[in-house]
Amino acid sequence: MDKRKLLGTLVLSTAAAAMLAATFPPPTSLVAQSASGAGTDTSAAIADANWSDNVTITLNAEEDTFRYQSDGLPASGPADAYLVPEDPSTMPFNDDPPESFFTLSGDEIQETPIDTTITTEPVLAATPTATDLGQIGVAIDGARIFNDYEDRERQVVALNDNVIHDHAAFVDECNGHPLGDGTTYHYHGVPLCISDEIDQEGTHSFMIGVLQDGFPVYADQGLDGSTVTNADLDECGGHIEATPEFPDGIYHYHLTADEAPYSIDCYAGEVEVAARGGRPDFGAVAETLGISEAELVEALGDGPPDFEAASEALGISVEELRQALPPPPGQ
Ligand SMILES: [Zn+2]
Ligand SMILES: [Zn+2]
Repeated sequence: MDKRKLLGTLVLSTAAAAMLAATFPPPTSLVAQSASGAGTDTSAAIADANWSDNVTITLNAEEDTFRYQSDGLPASGPADAYLVPEDPSTMPFNDDPPESFFTLSGDEIQETPIDTTITTEPVLAATPTATDLGQIGVAIDGARIFNDYEDRERQVVALNDNVIHDHAAFVDECNGHPLGDGTTYHYHGVPLCISDEIDQEGTHSFMIGVLQDGFPVYADQGLDGSTVTNADLDECGGHIEATPEFPDGIYHYHLTADEAPYSIDCYAGEVEVAARGGRPDFGAVAETLGISEAELVEALGDGPPDFEAASEALGISVEELRQALPPPPGQ
């Protein structure tokens, strides 16, 4: 049973925006947004955000976008060791014995460059879009933000299924971890190593990143520094209120610490699902299969995917590959 109130539909109507305006500090830009259909301009906040040195931000005023490039590594550095399930397709794995995991040294964490373009005019969508595995947003410290799940079936919540053996944890103290091959470090909840640095007592959290729909994302401090829980948020983990970067109010997400989901299960904003040109999100598929994106792409080859060959190369059944890969657009 999803304990969160299904407020998602509320933020989608002008009447509801007016209702919220009565509850929260005047979100004038939102009301204007609802009336005009235009987005909220985030470019000034994006320009001023606390990006770490491994992140390059390029604003494009003509396109109303910004380009985010980084090495994909968390600025705080990796943990000493990570526990990786030998067979991540066996779900759930929190009850599995120690021998069903291997240990990956923090030294094996690899750069996995991010180069993504995100709107600076986010617009609330008529209906939310479910987030998938793989990158759903980018953090100010250079790393990726994922949703809370390890599998496409949404059975395994990374933070609930955290396993620790001999000081090696599945998810580290920053609420992040790499894929099993050391690539694609990502957060599944409040990136504590960022929020501990930038958040201040008694105030709303500061922006820790941006989701792919362009709306900003924060840790779990609300107005006056009170703790935001799922009960305060809509079905996508967001709400409209003032934040330090947007004193007039904006729709924004909160990663939460009270209970699952700790990350974001749906985009409230319009998000270009076709942004990848119909190409499957290989990073997401690779996470499902427990292999690296590079391995997957190499095994599938150019052109139409050769499932037989890929199955042989990866040691994964054809059926499992077909299930993990979404059907081509139009099917
Ligand atoms: Zn993960
Ligand atoms: Zn908030």
